Amino acid sequence: MIHKGKVQTVLGPVEPGDLGLTLPHEHVLVDMTLGACSAEVLINQTESGRAAATTAQAGWEPGEDGPGTAASFRARWNEPICLENRADVARNWFYYGNYKIASIDDVIYEANLFKRHGGGCIVDQTSIGLARDPQGLQQVSRATGLHIVMATSYYTFEYHPGELEELDVEGVQDRIMRDIEVGVGGAGIQAGIIGEVGLSTTMHPREEKVLRASARAQRSSGLPLSIHPGFGPDAIWAAVRILEEEKADLSRTIMCHVDHRLASKPAPNSFDPDQWLDLAKTGMYLEFDCFGWEESYRQRGKIDMPNDAIRLNEIMALVEAGHGHRVLMSHDLALQHWQRKYGGHGWQHIPETVTALMRYKGFDEDLIDQILIDNPAEFLTIA
Ligand SMILES: [Zn+2]
Repeated sequence: MIHKGKVQTVLGPVEPGDLGLTLPHEHVLVDMTLGACSAEVLINQTESGRAAATTAQAGWEPGEDGPGTAASFRARWNEPICLENRADVARNWFYYGNYKIASIDDVIYEANLFKRHGGGCIVDQTSIGLARDPQGLQQVSRATGLHIVMATSYYTFEYHPGELEELDVEGVQDRIMRDIEVGVGGAGIQAGIIGEVGLSTTMHPREEKVLRASARAQRSSGLPLSIHPGFGPDAIWAAVRILEEEKADLSRTIMCHVDHRLASKPAPNSFDPDQWLDLAKTGMYLEFDCFGWEESYRQRGKIDMPNDAIRLNEIMALVEAGHGHRVLMSHDLALQHWQRKYGGHGWQHIPETVTALMRYKGFDEDLIDQILIDNPAEFLTIA
């Protein structure tokens, strides 16, 4: 059963007004290692991995598509995070195998810190393929009293389960609708958001199938929809065109990661505000979901990762153009070293630290509440 007018959490439907401060794009429990037993295996399996290995300092043996990682980098796999390696983990995390958050106790510790700083709700955008953990989410919600929303649909093609090859668009839509209407985990735990739907920079045919199925599931269920696009404007607009063809409700759809996906040219001047403004005109939500990530050394090609101050400047440009009701903010916290316990910024970062910077930069209290409370509640309410 779909609960129209409510927000579907892992413990049942709740009133949108009960959510409070909401992080719309996080990974409560997630594993992106694809079961890899070495950095080399992981790097060869994913677009992110290949991008991580392309720079000179990245530990890849020299040469075009070199045969593998250098010896000292191989040795880092599964090394526990400690003070001495913390800075190296931040720069070279692909080599450490901590591309996951798998300890429920660590997550409960982290979630309680968020709650103590005024947090109310976390949206777990861990779609199928990223080791989604419905019962784990219930444990975290029960232990902390936080509202937690579970995702459905599928991440990028490297993470697709084998059955997606056989299913047609209707078949994939049926799978997604089953998560929404009946629920999973043997206990009828129902999804409250479709996505993040994973798309690569060149959209894989199975990703297109999933995107179309997700748009149709949004139409028939009234659930919110969330898109993880490939890099660059072309990838983003390719996704928008398919959503329009499928008559998705763009006013209830997020484009994720716009703070480092919309760059169209190498730094400096990677970011052109007109691109955000054009995207906002579609009516979609623009999600600046990498708050706390201020690492300039991400091995990701030639674009600059903005810092939080720049993100807020970009958001203010959208607000001043009349798009404040289309902005969402989150951390996309998916790596162990981003948790407080391992030297990271944690889920408390936005309520504790970013809100202070927002005030300093001239965001008034109504605007802060709109972006951190009202916009996510409106987005999550089942239409
Ligand atoms: Zn994503």
